[in-house]
Amino acid sequence: MIRVVAAFLMTAGSAFAQDFSGLARIDHAASAITDTRQGMAVDLQLSQIVPYRVFTLDEPRRLVVDFREIDWTGTDKTQLDQSDIASDIRFGAFQAGWSRLVVDLSEPVVLKAAEMTVNQLDNTAKLTLVLRDADQVEFAATSGAPVSAAWDIATAQPSLPAPTPEDGPLTVVLDPGHGGVDPGAIQGGVVEANLMLKLAIEVAEALNRTGQVRAILTREADIFVPLEGRMTIARAAKADLFISLHADALEVDEARGASIYTLNAEGSDRAAARMAERHERGDLLAGVDLSEQDDRVATVLMDLARAETEPQSQRFAEQAVAALRDAGARLNSRPRREGRLAVLNAPDFASVLIEVGFLSNANDRAMLSTPSGRAPVVEGIVSGVLTWAREEAARAPLVRQ
Ligand SMILES: [Zn+2]
Repeated sequence: MIRVVAAFLMTAGSAFAQDFSGLARIDHAASAITDTRQGMAVDLQLSQIVPYRVFTLDEPRRLVVDFREIDWTGTDKTQLDQSDIASDIRFGAFQAGWSRLVVDLSEPVVLKAAEMTVNQLDNTAKLTLVLRDADQVEFAATSGAPVSAAWDIATAQPSLPAPTPEDGPLTVVLDPGHGGVDPGAIQGGVVEANLMLKLAIEVAEALNRTGQVRAILTREADIFVPLEGRMTIARAAKADLFISLHADALEVDEARGASIYTLNAEGSDRAAARMAERHERGDLLAGVDLSEQDDRVATVLMDLARAETEPQSQRFAEQAVAALRDAGARLNSRPRREGRLAVLNAPDFASVLIEVGFLSNANDRAMLSTPSGRAPVVEGIVSGVLTWAREEAARAPLVRQ
């Protein structure tokens, strides 16, 4: 099938004569996404010209606009999105140097025109996208990311850690959930992505202070890193242990306290299924095209590796539950959970997902929002890692004989 890609990248000489050092700001009063008689229009009034590209993705249908780079501060979702075709929008940093706008499309529309015009008097710029009604067949035929997912992975790792020698210190990769265009749960003014980054930095610093562990983060800023990028970072760092950090918000439950997930390929309990449902569309919704990825490779080697790492993950989860309890952190009534979660799927290192609490629970939210409230969580994770590392080291000679 020929994939027609609607991508426009500014390459005009005048564009590069500009100074891109500052972020472009949005003139909110003069910007809107609106329905037109034959489709939809996106008008963004910007403080300066920026390179951009635009494309659509299918399943779910969305319009993606990448900019280099926009400051979204103060952008109000409902003010910007005045269109019925645009059923929802997300915007924010995507990777270092890129910003992204994702528009969910309730109807198929295809790009008819894309233009950035510059006001010669004040150097402000206006991006105008015109989309016209289409049928699903035409939409599917014109949809697809301009380059493969490799673009996302390549740009997602600005500072890859140097590989360690085989017998170097234990390497723990901390993965603050969400980021950038994908904020995760938002409740009472607390944003999951920002909170998890704070917590991950605190845990990493505490781990590095022990001198026994080298801790690395999958992201160090409010940027979006797709799942493949997180895995690549962990692999390049020669991770022994991968810890993904989350704090979900639920509408109905009175769920509270920390719980730890490990992989169970056989199936998921209700909480794990809900966790997967809420998180595994993250890449899709952020506009990552997963259609060309195929993970069904080298299954025998993966099974062999997994035979070692799966019990390691489970032993870490047990240690972490005990250590969190000892440190005085609030635990969920069922602190050990299992499920089919893609983020735990790497066969070559132990992986857990720690739900440190629920942003929907007022007590959890208040506790997680302050450094002193997070301290028992940090202490519990660090002490769980150290105990686990000791026990695995004692076990290793037996395994490797
Ligand atoms: Zn989350």
